[in-house]
Amino acid sequence: MSESTAREVWRAVLGDLQLQLPRPTFETWLKPTEGVAYDDHVFVVEAPNPFAVEWLERRIYHALQKTLKKVSGREFELQLKVRSEGDFYAVEQAPATSNQAGSATPTAQPLFEMRSFNPKYSFESFVAGPSNRLALSASRAVAESPGQTYNPLFLHSGAGLGKTHLLQAIGKTCASRGMSVLYVTSEQFTNEFITAIRNRTTEEFRRRYRSVQVLLIDDVQFLSGKEQTHEGFFHTFNDLHNAGNQVVISSDRPPRELVSIEDRLRSRFEWGLIADIQAPDLETRMAILAAKADQLRVDMEDSVIELIAKRVQRNVRELEGSLNRMVAYSQLMNVNISLESTLQILNEMAPEANARSIDPQRIFEQVAIFYALSVGDLMAKNRTKKVALARQVAMYLLIYELELSPTQVGRLLGGRDHSTVIHGAGKINGEVTENGQVRKDVLAIKEAIFA
Ligand code: ADP
Ligand code: MG
Repeated sequence: MSESTAREVWRAVLGDLQLQLPRPTFETWLKPTEGVAYDDHVFVVEAPNPFAVEWLERRIYHALQKTLKKVSGREFELQLKVRSEGDFYAVEQAPATSNQAGSATPTAQPLFEMRSFNPKYSFESFVAGPSNRLALSASRAVAESPGQTYNPLFLHSGAGLGKTHLLQAIGKTCASRGMSVLYVTSEQFTNEFITAIRNRTTEEFRRRYRSVQVLLIDDVQFLSGKEQTHEGFFHTFNDLHNAGNQVVISSDRPPRELVSIEDRLRSRFEWGLIADIQAPDLETRMAILAAKADQLRVDMEDSVIELIAKRVQRNVRELEGSLNRMVAYSQLMNVNISLESTLQILNEMAPEANARSIDPQRIFEQVAIFYALSVGDLMAKNRTKKVALARQVAMYLLIYELELSPTQVGRLLGGRDHSTVIHGAGKINGEVTENGQVRKDVLAIKEAIFA
């Protein structure tokens, strides 16, 4: 059965569910899902990440199955899976009128499966910051006048920092102006090429690729090590580049570190502009969270946004995941998103590797020294005001600086309950922004710890 039919059926299911479920639940969990395939028994639906799959399976699987039955009139086993990373998003054929005479005949049939660009990935929704400034402005310039500014444009960064987002934003902008755009991952490119060789349709393959005005190749580090594929890509690249068509490439590392890629191809990657994206700084992380919260139409206090942004530092995908989790939790439990509930939820999330390799013992020692106490005082049951404050400062530092979970911190502090830790750390976090003295103290301790 065809791809588009699965999609249409699932759209109808979503239409039905939209009426059954609270709007934020629908927006957060269901809207990003997509029907991708079915056979006689199984209906496959993709969700954007493992957490969404888990959530849907755990919370509303039966409602999904029931609605699917109602809409399709058939009994399916519903299978939820994570959208595969190397998804192919769009092929937009140029409308017949915009093809110049003499150029390759546009093929009626799509190059690969037809999908629309992910609507989430636009320039409007991309938050600018010092970490992505060059990549963003180069992408805008390329989208504005493809083939004329930086060609190729080569974007590189670690995972989850916005490469696919920018590639798709470029693609969408160009497609909306009637250009033929092809977004493809290097794995898909490889597969297509190998299939073409097997079926002896390489000429056809080449002609199709040559008819594209903007070619976006995502995750080029996965271009297969096979010589033939490199050869195929090399020629495709040359064809497009010579014709003045735009090529945009993304990778997890700069060209010179792509050691498995042929020299001549690598050096072509360096012809245009190479721009990297770094992990966003705190301010940018906060701006991204605020924008996402806005999209989800949830109210979030600045202090909560700051807390999440401080805890989740590595990449934007994790940042989004944390926010989605917060929103889902608050809706399911019908609680406001407060500092305390945020910490609680972050605590329940899979513990992340420590961002810094500081030994907790060092924090205890420095806190004890600062308040003229012993480390043992911090662990003990002593509740004098001074000891309680010192202990709370230690909790705060362990949570905010070492990114330990409240449960871990409670254990380190002589078996205290995680709710006590959440309360203590939250209190200091509040005072750090308000109270001049506590702020100064914490800064001094931090200096000593990280010196
Ligand atoms: P990559 O391709 O580099 O692994 P993605 O482009 O898939 O990363 O980005 C991961 C997620 O983070 C996406 O949902 C994307 O929309 C989001 N994202 C990344 N950077 C930004 C940004 N600067 N502003 C808004 N959203 C961002
Ligand atoms: Mg990507």
